Amino acid sequence: MSAPLLQVNDLKKYFPVRGPLFSRKASWVYAVDGVSFEIGRGETLSLVGESGCGKSTVGRAILRLFDITAGQVVLDGQRIDDLSADRLRPIRRRVQVVFQDPFSSLNPRLRVRDILAEPIRNFGLARSSAELDAKVAALMDTVRLPRDVLNRRPHEFSGGQRQRICIARALAAEPDLIVCDEAVSALDVSVKAQIVNLLSDLQREFGLALLFISHDLAIVEHMTHRVAVMYLGKIVEMASRHQIFAAPRHPYTKALLSAVPVPDPAARRKPMILKGDVPSPINPPSGCRFHTRCPFVFDRCRTEVPELRQIVEGQWAACHLDELPEAPAAG
Ligand code: SF4
Repeated sequence: MSAPLLQVNDLKKYFPVRGPLFSRKASWVYAVDGVSFEIGRGETLSLVGESGCGKSTVGRAILRLFDITAGQVVLDGQRIDDLSADRLRPIRRRVQVVFQDPFSSLNPRLRVRDILAEPIRNFGLARSSAELDAKVAALMDTVRLPRDVLNRRPHEFSGGQRQRICIARALAAEPDLIVCDEAVSALDVSVKAQIVNLLSDLQREFGLALLFISHDLAIVEHMTHRVAVMYLGKIVEMASRHQIFAAPRHPYTKALLSAVPVPDPAARRKPMILKGDVPSPINPPSGCRFHTRCPFVFDRCRTEVPELRQIVEGQWAACHLDELPEAPAAG
């Protein structure tokens, strides 16, 4: 088996927060607290969880949008979390991003032609202006936008079209990995499906690896290879798409899945309603972080942190239930 394209090892990111007035005590938001995973070349890994679980922070750490607190990010065998700005430059070309809001991530003053030409120029990917023009035109074909709109500006496009421009801009750098951070969340349902299909096609066509960050499990069902489920800064389950959707192990994954609509009433999952909100990452619960909302909680959960362990080939879960002789049936 070839070495993974991306390895994230025990990643931690804590953000300082100001304590109460006159208090000297520093507080921290434990946004990501010991996350590890790998992405192979041409593989899609979806990072899923409720808002505030730390999934976007993981994406931004990989993109080196800030320094991490601890751990390692390794791209193609090279550690990138501690590289200087100069040495990071070629890496920036290889790891691109598509953010949630296509409008605020595009410069409103630039024409589409210039938006797409910028990364090609910056990374020296065209030897002449004719080659630059040809690459820009080809990118429009790739994201299924007509070439004759190249002179328009972002406000002249719909949300879905703007997201296609963002995808084209990411592709312009000829990356190995694209981080899609809630890339379809702001779009209408039908447009969402079109963009997900486009990403899937591009992934196959160019052998791209995708880290697809989403709060919505339903979105990733037909396009991902593997899924990592995050809760309050930790991965609680990681498995292949089939394992996650057909036989989830962790109670939190089961709860997320029970909210996913399915067209066939016979296949509908038993609803599992979670009590309360996600606790604050400033003061996460002891033991299993999910214990304050878990319907299967027992004493050990309140004191002992469950390790992420391989339960069956390719499926990892962090739950004490998996160490019991007989785990309770799915909720
Ligand atoms: Fe629920 Fe306990 Fe498993 Fe956590 S360790 S998910 S609280 S059963």
